[in-house]
Amino acid sequence: MIFRDKAIVCACEDVTVHDIDDAIVRGLGDIENLKRYTGLGTGPCQGKSCLVGATRICAERARLPQEALVPFRSRPPASPTSMAAYAGAPLEALPPPFATEEKRNRAHPLRPISSLPERADVVIIGGGIMGLALAWNLAGSGAGSVLVLERGYLCEGASGRNGGGVRAQWTTPTLIELAKESIDFMGRFAQELGINIWLRKGGYLFLAHDKETVGRIEKSAELQNRHGLSTRIISPGEAGDIVPELDTRKFLAASWHPDDGVVFPWPFLWGYADGARKRGAQVETFTSVTGLEVAGGRVRAVQTDRGRVVADRVVISSGAWSPSVARLAGVALPNKPQRHEIVSSEPMKPFLGPLVSMLGTGLYFSQSMRGEIVGGMGDPDEPDGLNQTSSLRFMTRYSRALTELIPRCGSVKLLRQWAGCYDVTPDHSPILGETPGVAGLLQMSGFVGHGFMMAPAVARRMSAWMGGAKDDLFERFALSRFAEGRLEKETFIIG
Ligand SMILES: Cc1cc2nc3c(=O)[nH]c(=O)nc-3n(C[C@H](O)[C@H](O)[C@H](O)COP(=O)(O)OP(=O)(O)OC[C@H]3O[C@@H](n4cnc5c(N)ncnc54)[C@H](O)[C@@H]3O)c2cc1C
Repeated sequence: MIFRDKAIVCACEDVTVHDIDDAIVRGLGDIENLKRYTGLGTGPCQGKSCLVGATRICAERARLPQEALVPFRSRPPASPTSMAAYAGAPLEALPPPFATEEKRNRAHPLRPISSLPERADVVIIGGGIMGLALAWNLAGSGAGSVLVLERGYLCEGASGRNGGGVRAQWTTPTLIELAKESIDFMGRFAQELGINIWLRKGGYLFLAHDKETVGRIEKSAELQNRHGLSTRIISPGEAGDIVPELDTRKFLAASWHPDDGVVFPWPFLWGYADGARKRGAQVETFTSVTGLEVAGGRVRAVQTDRGRVVADRVVISSGAWSPSVARLAGVALPNKPQRHEIVSSEPMKPFLGPLVSMLGTGLYFSQSMRGEIVGGMGDPDEPDGLNQTSSLRFMTRYSRALTELIPRCGSVKLLRQWAGCYDVTPDHSPILGETPGVAGLLQMSGFVGHGFMMAPAVARRMSAWMGGAKDDLFERFALSRFAEGRLEKETFIIG
């Protein structure tokens, strides 16, 4: 039996029968959860050799309903394909991005049959990084009973699909300070929450392709220096010393901050979820919020596909879905969802220290602790919409941009692509705090492409503010600013 438990199921990611049993005990015995909890199926073979065995073990031991015993969604490309092949694809002949909306009408097969509590002091809608970090902070601060409702598995939204980049190189004092506090906290995450989030401080290297952008990074570096960051503007030659493979003719200067880095998104979420539960919060997955009851100018209750929960305070932290959730209370949010695609390569020996981003095209890429190059690139033609599909157009644009900058990457094979949604507000700043006209309904959304790196600080401050602390963050970033015409200074978005 001991030998059987040590048997390897996923050879690429070293996942044993014992690891799967452990996940099952934690209620993570369905394949999508198992993949995100153990890493099973995310290596070079992309699940080809482990999926059947893992599904069989789950079928035997996890006692899931038959309809939940489905393999994970396979990701394109069907087989590892070199960047040179993608870069040579006829981009002009490929279809432009088009708007699609997700279809999700039926209850999830893993929806629990147990009932929810009849009331909670705080209900948090959305179990992404924002909702979970807030739950952990609130549960540790005597805020009463805290209930997180997540319609899918943990890591289902943008928080489970992002590049894990964390940087303090920002262009406003507020964002610099939020990111500094968050990255500091990530360094202590393992002590505080008992899980390794693989923080690797390899720095961030922003490349400026024209004079105007050089002027912008110079101004930002001065601001960052005033806030204690060691950001430096460096020449292409110095950037080439940091990443020798770069074609230094492709940019004029670079902004370099060695203390920025990358984390692995999945354990970051698990850490907050486990920590929140240990502090007494209830985190309910596969549970959709379907209605919000408002009466007498305040929120009264949340309706779900598992019944109704009375609550005086309800937080909307539903990422790109926040406008549709707010609409349930008759509230209009200005956020627009926008697809953002991302891809991971085969693993390689470490060669790339920092996360590199080419300003202008929005290309960014870094090397993960597992050796893969993980990167993305926004598309100016991307329409708004809750679209999480993957495209060949992205693979071609990304491969062209990356191989122009690092020609040697042409022979690197791309293994797995996916997509998530940025939650974009008109001024690219979040929406936090009170909702005009609906007391008790609180907003925590609009984090565009940088919510992951802001979450620890934003959640700590939101929890303190909900406990009565004064904090001007919740005035400045209030929903009312859009009606009052006092938008924030726009920050640039990567990707
Ligand atoms: C491809 C990509 C790359 C990115 N790269 C970075 C990066 O490098 N660094 C960085 O800091 N940020 C990055 N981001 C942005 C970052 O991921 C987000 O800002 C952050 O994860 C937002 O967290 P959230 O909790 O607000 O939203 P989400 O993580 O989307 O969570 C919202 C949750 O609400 C749930 N939900 C929706 N409707 C309902 C309902 N009716 N009932 C119950 N639950 C519901 C959803 O299922 C979802 O899990 C990236 C994003 C993408 C898509």
